[in-house]
Amino acid sequence: MTPNAPVASLSNPPKTAEQLFLGVLVIQPSPFCNINCDYCYLPNRTSSRRMEFSVLEQTMARVFESGLAGPPFVLLWHAGEPLAVPVSWYEQAFEIINRFPGAKEKVMHSFQTNGTLIDDRWCEFIKKHDVSIGLSIDGPEFIHDRHRKTRSGAGTHAKAMRGAAKLKEAGIDFGVVSVISDFSLDYPDEIYEYFRDLGIEGVGFNIEEVEGINAESSFDQVDPATAESRVRRFLERVFARNKGDGFPLRIREFENARENILAPELNRAPDGRYYNLEVDPLAMLNVDCFGNFSTFSPELLGQATETYGSFTFGNVAANQFFEATGVESFQQVLADIESGNRKCAQSCPYWEHCGGASPSNKYYENGTFDSAETRHCRCMIQMPLDIVLADLEERLGVSYGEPPRHAA
Ligand code: SF4
Repeated sequence: MTPNAPVASLSNPPKTAEQLFLGVLVIQPSPFCNINCDYCYLPNRTSSRRMEFSVLEQTMARVFESGLAGPPFVLLWHAGEPLAVPVSWYEQAFEIINRFPGAKEKVMHSFQTNGTLIDDRWCEFIKKHDVSIGLSIDGPEFIHDRHRKTRSGAGTHAKAMRGAAKLKEAGIDFGVVSVISDFSLDYPDEIYEYFRDLGIEGVGFNIEEVEGINAESSFDQVDPATAESRVRRFLERVFARNKGDGFPLRIREFENARENILAPELNRAPDGRYYNLEVDPLAMLNVDCFGNFSTFSPELLGQATETYGSFTFGNVAANQFFEATGVESFQQVLADIESGNRKCAQSCPYWEHCGGASPSNKYYENGTFDSAETRHCRCMIQMPLDIVLADLEERLGVSYGEPPRHAA
């Protein structure tokens, strides 16, 4: 298939190749991770396999020849610990990428890292190439070290903090992604104060998910309704503390909710729907260290399932990205994602501000993409919207309608 051929199989709405564009390219330089968090969804974390430069070059050639690289896109080095691959590898990798015309303007590099390997050399590289940095930190040491451990069982908080200190010394701003486990829910004040005082760009919370090889979440050990009530109380408390302090901490879930309510036009597709990158074919491209690629949620990369088989839709050595749309398993995944989204649109009052959230959560929680609500969307989409809307109503002295469905 040529890049300009219509992608006739796509529906809801039908799209031509010209209407598809890349938002995020996830590249796995290596599946290896130097630590061993007990909730991690990634397979093969002990493999030290590294992407060949020829595979990287082929990946970028496929991206630029596809016509998908319209506006600037994020190149997220992830799906393993990216900094476990040495700086010297990235020096060569960036040099290869920058050979492609327009790459310097279009590619926005980003590392999501556990932070434990950051040293002066990394800081120099990060500054030189203007790489955006996300650290994975769960909160104060007694919370972080409960799940984020080395293979020998030691905590990793002190090392992550050393990395954070290095970034600060070098004047590099960074954000944080924090996994909220069942244990964390008893400590909203400690977690809020910790991140408020850390001097970060902002924090995004993820509840511990059932995903990939992480078949069980700590939330599964308690009654689901109780667990979700506790998540709501946690989020309400964090929001109230932040509000009481004048909102010094940017919290992704509340920022997204506020933007969704006050400026919904910012997240609209041309047809007026909420734009959800994870359900738009080829808007997220995920490439493993062998050059195998998938699209939709990056968490699906490298996972094998009974229902859908492999989520690999091609390999950059042999296939253009558009060829994925002709693969049978892609067609089945897309059809189910779209059917699941129709269920969302028919049943969920949050649909206009969500767009169906993450297919991987639907698959791993409900067993199929052809489904609607998940614990993840109730906690990370619906609850923040409820909390922000209630706050806006209180401040403006108005009510926008029925109270939220999920009041605990
Ligand atoms: S909040 Fe959940 S149920 Fe509602 S539209 Fe989003 S994914 Fe679907």
